[in-house]
Amino acid sequence: MDFKLSEEQELLLESVDDFIKQCPDMGFDAEYFRDRYNANQPPHEYNKALVESGLGTLGIPERFGGTEVDLLTMVLVAERFASNDFPHLLGAALQIDDMLSFGSEEQLEIVSRLFMEGRRAFSLGITEPQAGSDNNMLATTAEHRGGKVILNGHKSFISNASTTPYMLCVAREAEPEDPKKWASMYFVPMDTPGVKIAGMHKLGCKFDTMEEVYLENVELPESALVGVRGNGFYQLMKNFELERLIIAAGCLGMAQCAFNDAAAYANQRIAFGKPIGKFQLIQEMITECQIKLTNMRNYCYMCSWQKDNGISVRATSGLAKYYCARAGFEVVDSAMQILGGLGYSEDHRVSRIWKDIRLYRIGGGTDQIMIHTTSREILKQYM
Ligand SMILES: Cc1cc2nc3c(=O)[nH]c(=O)nc-3n(C[C@H](O)[C@H](O)[C@H](O)COP(=O)(O)OP(=O)(O)OC[C@H]3O[C@@H](n4cnc5c(N)ncnc54)[C@H](O)[C@@H]3O)c2cc1C
Repeated sequence: MDFKLSEEQELLLESVDDFIKQCPDMGFDAEYFRDRYNANQPPHEYNKALVESGLGTLGIPERFGGTEVDLLTMVLVAERFASNDFPHLLGAALQIDDMLSFGSEEQLEIVSRLFMEGRRAFSLGITEPQAGSDNNMLATTAEHRGGKVILNGHKSFISNASTTPYMLCVAREAEPEDPKKWASMYFVPMDTPGVKIAGMHKLGCKFDTMEEVYLENVELPESALVGVRGNGFYQLMKNFELERLIIAAGCLGMAQCAFNDAAAYANQRIAFGKPIGKFQLIQEMITECQIKLTNMRNYCYMCSWQKDNGISVRATSGLAKYYCARAGFEVVDSAMQILGGLGYSEDHRVSRIWKDIRLYRIGGGTDQIMIHTTSREILKQYM
């Protein structure tokens, strides 16, 4: 087994470090990010610079102006950005992957054009008030009349619904041809009459907004269908595999960032006449965190490698997400403990990371749902 990075990967990570070093000169300093975060707005200008540098377009096909790399390389880059407390664009790259897999040429063109401007093209509209973990309860309907599709329903907790021009909406076919194939995906322009958005407030992850979306007789051309009618769930499963891995890699980076701060502080902070890192109770947290970070890293790299090599990651991506969201939160929580009062103050980034990372035990599928879905796959192997 070869754990060594390739020369290209090493060079790419060096260019991430160089980009990060240049950020303050480009105006992307701590104050810039704090302002955008507190305003609950994406860092558009930074995202644009990221795209222009080429680092934001990794994984995007060359015909759309990107650079094709394998998933492991993308995960390495995402980890490097997050561990330096800088946003990355891997989530937006997932949108292109969705459209490459299922979208029409026109939908793909819209998504990649917006992406090359440093913007996310769409929000993902799955959750509804009565349908969170239980997707079978989805009640948003798609009716087909006179060559049009008409959507009615209410989506909840939708990230970036107010800052993206489209929503990829999962709806229930009013008259499915096959009763088992009742879900479809539609590409909804948010300025279509009948779409209403209402803001929601959340604890962290404030580069993204969160909204309720109401759909009242929203009339779209049939060409708004994404992929195959009735195949919405199959398409979602494919999206979930990658999304879970991207979340896991983000959690790894955030946890590493918090740990870096805490370990450095443990060497500096004096209590009872010596650095707190000399106390065994602090050393225990340092050791536990290091083990968790290594396990998280191994899970993320293994899962990406498997995907790159055509091995199914249906269970592994769920396990990686479950483990990294939990272990990542524990690492950040220990980092806060090591930093003491400073860690809980809003002046220290660890308090923000603590709020941000907590989301991932809920969003993208809760811990309990990860257990529910992965355990089924594991048990199948023992039948
Ligand atoms: C910040 C944020 C951003 C989000 N962004 C989006 C988005 O962009 N698009 C989108 O569609 N959704 C989004 N969501 C919604 C998110 O996916 C859901 O919150 C999540 O799937 C859980 O659904 P729920 O909140 O309805 O909780 P519920 O499903 O009601 O769950 C409540 C509790 O019950 C547990 N539970 C449920 N079923 C089981 C079971 N079978 N066994 C054991 N325990 C169970 C859950 O694990 C949880 O602990 C976002 C949520 C947040 C908080």
